[in-house]
Amino acid sequence: MSGVNDIRSTFLDYFRKNGHEVVASSPLVPRNDPTLMFTNAGMVQFKNVFTGLESRPYSRATTAQKSVRAGGKHNDLDNVGYTARHLTFFEMLGNFSFGDYFKEQAIELAWNLITKDFGLSKDKLLVTVYHTDDEAADHWKKIAGFSDDRIIRIATSDNFWAMGDTGPCGPCSEIFIDRGEHIWGGPPGSPEEDGDRFLEFWNLVFMQFDQPEPGVQVPLPRPSIDTGMGLERMASILQGVDSVFETDLFKGLIEATASVLGKRPEAGNVASYRVIADHLRSSCFLIADGVLPSNEGRGYVVRRIMRRAMRHAQLLGASEPLMYKLVPALVREMGSAYPELVRGEALITETLKLEETRFRKTLARGLGLLADATETLGAGDRLDGETAFKLYDTYGFPLDLTQDALRQRDIAVDTAGFDAAMERQKAEARASWAGSGEAATETIWFGVRDRVGATEFLGYDTETAEGVV
Ligand code: ATP
Ligand code: MG
Ligand code: MG
Ligand code: MG
Repeated sequence: MSGVNDIRSTFLDYFRKNGHEVVASSPLVPRNDPTLMFTNAGMVQFKNVFTGLESRPYSRATTAQKSVRAGGKHNDLDNVGYTARHLTFFEMLGNFSFGDYFKEQAIELAWNLITKDFGLSKDKLLVTVYHTDDEAADHWKKIAGFSDDRIIRIATSDNFWAMGDTGPCGPCSEIFIDRGEHIWGGPPGSPEEDGDRFLEFWNLVFMQFDQPEPGVQVPLPRPSIDTGMGLERMASILQGVDSVFETDLFKGLIEATASVLGKRPEAGNVASYRVIADHLRSSCFLIADGVLPSNEGRGYVVRRIMRRAMRHAQLLGASEPLMYKLVPALVREMGSAYPELVRGEALITETLKLEETRFRKTLARGLGLLADATETLGAGDRLDGETAFKLYDTYGFPLDLTQDALRQRDIAVDTAGFDAAMERQKAEARASWAGSGEAATETIWFGVRDRVGATEFLGYDTETAEGVV
């Protein structure tokens, strides 16, 4: 069986043998890039190399990159626990060409790795290409011997990859595997494509453009290659399991949770175990990279992730803080590949313990209020914004935690009402300050307050409005 550690090294070794420099993962907080909340793909650390602003002593590279998709353009927070393939933290394996090889060789390298080294059966594989990309389609036909029906042309942004609203981008070709009829889902482009039967595991991006500002595309100085393969997804394929949560690494984390709680996962609660394992990884890796829970920006995202996990721990009947007790299991599974976890273990443990101890004080009461407020509600109903705001303001419930709590009962939250309640509270606070006579101080105070509020709001908007590209 191929464990995640073997798969990671097989990938990196393969590209090293093919002339690629093995480069370390960059931190989860992108350096000098305020446009991006977290590193969400392998190409992020090479952004300026693609655009020609920066040069490196190599023109081919390969990485295993820590990635978080829980905010900003690529946000999978709401998918975790509900699909078989989405995590908020995952490792993206990638190979990169900076003006060196292009489409044909990228496809050839990928094909040889998956069919020879990883031994995937050709009959189960299929690919997508951007609808106008005849070149990529021809290469697939020639290299893989695919018939036309296994090369699916897609016209949406799914096959035009972009890091964010600005930065390098280009048409892409995604590789899928059909895992069989026992899993719900249809091929890409079909109405059932969101299912997990046809699993996308590798995206080959043909970097051709830079977007200096949203909507403007200029050709890159040299066409380049950027690819991303989800390590956990490849592990699920090679280990013959139906979801990333059943791979060796996640089994270890879920086992650790079960042993701390003294109870086994069952059909009715397995999603909570999965959410906890995923959120543990993203929280710990973010803290190790210096993102501490706070009320704004990146720190608020990590707080939201941690609190969501804590609600699931509560659901599983945890009678005391749980997350910090799982840190040793994570360090055991991933500490050798990521020594920052070992170095940060004490800080991570303390941060989780403090946050959970604090939040548990209001969590149970907040959940009680939520239960009362939704007692008479049923599927298709909406919780009023006032209550959601009270949960946020008084009990420390991030809006998405409340939404997550109600999702299983198919109850939505009136987010416009929530925003209005937030605005009203701000206005009231302003009014009660009026007349203190210190105009200058007030302006500064409300300036800061508005900015902090705005940051939080942006977090919510970005999530609900943009979704995943
Ligand atoms: P999906 O359509 O399944 O959401 P994506 O098209 O958004 O995936 P890409 O942006 O193409 O993903 O990222 C490259 C690869 O990284 C994917 O092919 C997949 O293997 C992996 N990947 C992307 N998002 C996640 C995630 N949330 N959890 C685990 N692996 C992921
Ligand atoms: Mg996709
Ligand atoms: Mg993709
Ligand atoms: Mg996605």
